[in-house]
Amino acid sequence: MRCMKSILLAFFVAGSASAQSIDSIIDRELPTLVETYKALHAAPELSLHEEKTSATVASKLRALGYSVTDNVGGCGVVATMKNGDGPVVLVRTDMDALPVQEQTGLPYASQVANTMHACGHDIHMATLIGTASALTQLKNRWHGTVMLVGQPAEEVLQGASAMLRDRIYERFGQPAYAIALHDSSSLPAGQIAYCPGYFMAASDAVNITIRGLGGHGAMPQSTKDPIVVAAQVVLALQTIVSRENSPLDPVVVTVGSIHGGAKRNVIPDQVQLLLTIRTFKPEVRKRVLASIERVTKGVALAAGIPEDHAPIVEVLSAESAESTYNDPALTERLAAALKRDMGDKNVVKVDPMMVSEDFGRFGLDGKIPTCMLNVGAVDPAKIASGARLPSLHSSEFAPVPDATIRGAVKAETVAVLELMR
Ligand SMILES: [Zn+2]
Ligand SMILES: [Zn+2]
Repeated sequence: MRCMKSILLAFFVAGSASAQSIDSIIDRELPTLVETYKALHAAPELSLHEEKTSATVASKLRALGYSVTDNVGGCGVVATMKNGDGPVVLVRTDMDALPVQEQTGLPYASQVANTMHACGHDIHMATLIGTASALTQLKNRWHGTVMLVGQPAEEVLQGASAMLRDRIYERFGQPAYAIALHDSSSLPAGQIAYCPGYFMAASDAVNITIRGLGGHGAMPQSTKDPIVVAAQVVLALQTIVSRENSPLDPVVVTVGSIHGGAKRNVIPDQVQLLLTIRTFKPEVRKRVLASIERVTKGVALAAGIPEDHAPIVEVLSAESAESTYNDPALTERLAAALKRDMGDKNVVKVDPMMVSEDFGRFGLDGKIPTCMLNVGAVDPAKIASGARLPSLHSSEFAPVPDATIRGAVKAETVAVLELMR
């Protein structure tokens, strides 16, 4: 009994000592990481133009002793470190900013007009650098090869595909797991959130051109009015969500842009609709896209638009992405490790979201288990006050740097150690 107690005590002490050592590493590194974050925040670069950003990430990782390759799939960075035999684990950060004019008024606000890290990819980069540093200092606690990936062009959903097309796995090894972390504009700074299964939606960009027969605004009888047809299409498309789809399968059909006509007394020849479609399950996605084409063409036909003027419905595959699916076993395993090392109240389960990501592509259609975690980025006092919280992509989004990066580095480090212990 006594022996059991001392074993348990020794185990507990060892556990808390190792958890503390991650904390003490972060204590030491945090000022530099926050400085790096602020520098990245002040100098954002748009998707497909991450030259200086990726050079910064590459040089920091090189300085830590990683073997670094630049220009993988455009501005992508791959940094590996082998530490004996064991699994390859991929950890990804994105690097691009958005065409947004920053309105935070922060001393380290963007110095580039109409360009802002409004999605927190600067937080993710600082986190990856912090994790990279912690791992070099904890080499006795992991085995295998860590593969750190700086991915370009996430906001246009092209960077992950570009890196895969540039044979990242053939060149640097196929990982056993791929993990990533994204900041959250609704959770308290440093809190970690997880969601097993579908986490983020598939996104499809759809363009519709409704072609009518234009003419005089006072003589509608001799025209086929595409504006009236477009108005009917906008409403009819919503019945795909409400009447054709199971309420248990989330679907969003949004017409975000509608353009047609130039003068009040002219019925135009055509109207353009730009849509974004969000779904989770592949079969739902396929059915909804087919329904959009059927409903649009059916409404035009009912309005008497001739067959040779049928609407043109295009799905823009370059602007689309599959859903982000968190492998349930991997996610639960990471959640258990995070709760153990960060405490139950700092690790919460959250609902899926209808926003989209291209990180899931690193999973090669389910061949490699993937998991994306969230880290809260908001001052807890602000949440408690009930104030409006600027969302991701807002010109006012301003993560709390210290607490967010602290929580994120700890979570990412604990996750890698769990998979490579
Ligand atoms: Zn974003
Ligand atoms: Zn993002």
